[in-house]
Amino acid sequence: MTNQLPTGATIGILGGGQLGRMLSVAAARLGFITHIFEPGANPPAGHVADRVTTAAYDDLAALTGFAHSVDVITYEFENIPTAALDTLEALRPIHPNRRALATSQDRLTEKEFLQSLGLNTALFAAVDTADDLQTALATVGTPAILKTRRFGYDGKGQARIMSPADAAQAITDMAGAPALLEGFVDFSHEVSVIAARGQHGDIACFDPGENIHKDGILHTTTVPARLTTAQATDAVLLAARILNELDYVGIMGVELFVTPQGLVVNEIAPRVHNSGHWTQQGCAIDQFEQHIRAIAGWPLGDGKRHCDVTMENLIGSDMDRLPEIAKEGNAAIHLYGKFETRAGRKMGHVNRITTP
Ligand code: AMP
Repeated sequence: MTNQLPTGATIGILGGGQLGRMLSVAAARLGFITHIFEPGANPPAGHVADRVTTAAYDDLAALTGFAHSVDVITYEFENIPTAALDTLEALRPIHPNRRALATSQDRLTEKEFLQSLGLNTALFAAVDTADDLQTALATVGTPAILKTRRFGYDGKGQARIMSPADAAQAITDMAGAPALLEGFVDFSHEVSVIAARGQHGDIACFDPGENIHKDGILHTTTVPARLTTAQATDAVLLAARILNELDYVGIMGVELFVTPQGLVVNEIAPRVHNSGHWTQQGCAIDQFEQHIRAIAGWPLGDGKRHCDVTMENLIGSDMDRLPEIAKEGNAAIHLYGKFETRAGRKMGHVNRITTP
């Protein structure tokens, strides 16, 4: 393969959280060097990466220096400012590409994109003002969820509208940010597909995982998910369509609602995904290595699952259970090196192999 990144090359990662940390470990296993760009001090990824640049995303000199020091750039979160991308993209390849980022950064663009592919989404309407919300409620109905178009994660920036009387509070909750009204999807459960596409258009998907959220944050992912063979095939095929359409390189997380009418796409994340952490114990080549392989132009792993796994996130005070979890014989513990435990903060996760 001509454009395969050689061992010893440097991979630049925007964002120094746990995803950047696990990407760095995977990159190191393949013989790559990693350089993290992160505004915050003492990032979890910094403990395992070769280099860290601590600077803001509007520090053009720091961005330029970072880009010159790496061979390829990737990221662990989707809210990278456009100007920073302009600077970086002029100097080094960025995977996944700008279109994937732009599509997933804005819930309206994302929904319109999914709809253009003929995929099922919740009913939706753009909402900038209280008047817009009234119009949107007339078409979408209640119950519905008002979400900020940008910068929402883990259920943040969302307001539920159970009846039209909740509209005023929901608009106040958006604090003037452009928003999207989504009709409530009556789903039986939530699944996600972690899919990879390589630089030559090859695609490999991991088995869909079934996700349970608590307080808007992912609590567990279990594989195999409760899906019929037809649903599991549909999940993988629709993920592949999204990746092909975006000419995507890397790992993407595709979150789906399972309904009697079929699969409904909730959202896409252009990066390694919390609901793919089970692959660390369930597959020979996990999502982190798969992502590094894709962006480095290496052949992809086949995504085959060799055991059943339940991944449990360790959030906030869940860390108090660590001594007990450590005594379990088949619980693989992954901690993120965050020294301060806070309510709602992802501190680590545990993968339990559940194959009989
Ligand atoms: P999100 O940040 O959009 O992924 O939403 C977080 C969680 O809220 C999802 O995982 C669902 O459990 C729930 N949710 C979001 N959108 C909808 C919807 N349109 N209908 C029903 N539940 C939803």
